[in-house]
Amino acid sequence: MPRVYAVVNQKGGVGKTTTAINVAANLPGLGLSGLIVDMDPQGNTTSGLGIVRSELSRSIYDVIVDAHDINEVVRPTAVTGLDILPSHRSLAGAEIELINLPRRERRLLYALESLRTSYDYIIIDCPPSLGLLTVNCLVAAEYMLIPIQCEYYALEGLGALTHTTQLIQRELNPRLKIGGIVLTLFDPRTTLTLQVAEQVRAQFPEKTFRTVIPRNVRLSEAPSHGMPITQYDPTSRGGVAYQELTKELIAR
Ligand code: ADP
Ligand code: MG
Repeated sequence: MPRVYAVVNQKGGVGKTTTAINVAANLPGLGLSGLIVDMDPQGNTTSGLGIVRSELSRSIYDVIVDAHDINEVVRPTAVTGLDILPSHRSLAGAEIELINLPRRERRLLYALESLRTSYDYIIIDCPPSLGLLTVNCLVAAEYMLIPIQCEYYALEGLGALTHTTQLIQRELNPRLKIGGIVLTLFDPRTTLTLQVAEQVRAQFPEKTFRTVIPRNVRLSEAPSHGMPITQYDPTSRGGVAYQELTKELIAR
């Protein structure tokens, strides 16, 4: 059975997509197969892995809204050993369309169960909201991987996420738990970064990964070349950090 992680935080721009792509891309190098699921209508994970969305005939939208066979939508990436369920703009409408569908919170869970190929890890990139798409992600996952950008209000957002998590644990998915918290866009030159990091570690001592992800320009350049950091610049500070993070995650 795969270990299923949802990369989640309702704030945008905290490093969810960067973390999803670069953790997933490190798996094959560590001997593990992976599937990455792009549940964000913006599709940055899909384009960041070099897939041109306008050329796709099917996406995760068809799977969760129209119950299209997931095995016809999953496709390989340029990283051997990593497959993807790509996103599409139409997914933005799914937030509303799902409301009237049966088992609206469990569409992704059921779809993943019918995958013919099994993976060691499934990494789901969530949209920046706590709507039905994210609920589908959290119902399909066992672990939440929460990126936190070390800035003001970083911890405030965690309150809403904790509340949603408790609701989902109670009503829909009792297995859901925090798999880990990762400090992203880390800049040790600013005292604010260090203060927030200290607060997060104090509040979640066991859950916060030792590895922090530095602010690193190579990480922000890689998606425009359609490559994960493992291909674009694996020895950059960001590349080394994501490899360390992936090892730490696997060891948990
Ligand atoms: P989210 O998915 O949470 O919205 P992204 O992963 O898309 O966040 O990151 C937001 C922006 O910040 C992107 O342009 C991304 O390239 C950039 N970025 C993310 N992490 C880093 C990092 N560690 N160093 C530099 N830029 C980063
Ligand atoms: Mg994103």
